[in-house]
Amino acid sequence: MSKPSPDVYEEGRGMDAHNSVMREIRGLKEKHYDPHEPTRVWLDEDNTPGGVYDSLTIILNTGGCRWARAGGCTMCGYVAESVEGGSVAHDALMDQIEVCLEHEADNADEPADLIKIYTSGSFLDEREVGAETRQAIAETFGDRERIVVESLPDFVDHEKITDFTDHGLDVDIAVGLETATDRVRHDCVNKYFDFADFEDACETAQDAGAGIKAYLLMKPPFLSESEARDDMVDSVQRCAAVDGCHTVSMNPCNVQQYTMVNELFRAGGYRPPWLWSVADVLERTADVDAIVVSDPVGHGSDRGPHNCGECDDRVQKAIKDFDLRQDPSVFEQVSCDCERTWELVIEEETSYAMSLTR
Ligand code: SF4
Ligand SMILES: [Zn+2]
Repeated sequence: MSKPSPDVYEEGRGMDAHNSVMREIRGLKEKHYDPHEPTRVWLDEDNTPGGVYDSLTIILNTGGCRWARAGGCTMCGYVAESVEGGSVAHDALMDQIEVCLEHEADNADEPADLIKIYTSGSFLDEREVGAETRQAIAETFGDRERIVVESLPDFVDHEKITDFTDHGLDVDIAVGLETATDRVRHDCVNKYFDFADFEDACETAQDAGAGIKAYLLMKPPFLSESEARDDMVDSVQRCAAVDGCHTVSMNPCNVQQYTMVNELFRAGGYRPPWLWSVADVLERTADVDAIVVSDPVGHGSDRGPHNCGECDDRVQKAIKDFDLRQDPSVFEQVSCDCERTWELVIEEETSYAMSLTR
């Protein structure tokens, strides 16, 4: 399998050039974070192969993704939220879990059946979360029904998964695949691995009794609206066809601070996707053999996926309905004049910096 490495392409070109620009942008960050506090925690509900569950979502602060430190992905601002120095000790990580349990006890009637743990990196990377912490977290949540942990494909292996399945938990690994198209993943997202690595991770997870939840990114930079839409339709279909991948979470890109996407956005070179594009992909892929969901973070704002400003909340609500019911007819109930603008954009927009004249 490929390894996170800044040496993937020739020095000064391709991925190497992407990385050096992003290291520079991220060097601008000034905030500092407490290693005893999670980055974020919230309660929600989620559609899983076992049904709709109340969920507790935890963003652990683990020191950050090692790929991000090499430069990282063009849209990812998470590393700007991580702890200085690159690692967080076992006790501090367990303090973060404690804060999350207190948040749940204060705000929920009963413990959530579903726990979701993200790390702004890879929970299964032992440089972020060591075996001792992983096992302690598995034990802490061993009485719940289901757990989702985030990881890049490289770190998915049998023993790490069985730490959780041994407690009787249903396990899903959330993999930030972003797109099934290797060229788009490498050149627009600056992510180093291949679709084949994702397929291998699905096989490993399935052998260990776990499932895979693929995270896709709609409209990385350098794609037109129609290219982004078509790439997502194809990616949802290809992911759903892989054994072991039971859920696809297709999420529109938003503009985060300290990222290349932010620099492009400020220079007028990037617009987050239309919510109509999100709805379009969900409608076109409603027949695939997987749960397909989307969570348009920052919807309705300039930096998030948006339509005209009038209909954003209604379309967002239809998307959330679709997430829970998987019924594409929810989109028949929303319309707005701006759909015609979106159709024109789909037909006419070309890739960033493409010449208007021959
Ligand atoms: S998107 Fe994931 S792999 Fe890429 S830099 Fe961010 S945390 Fe790392
Ligand atoms: Zn509208």
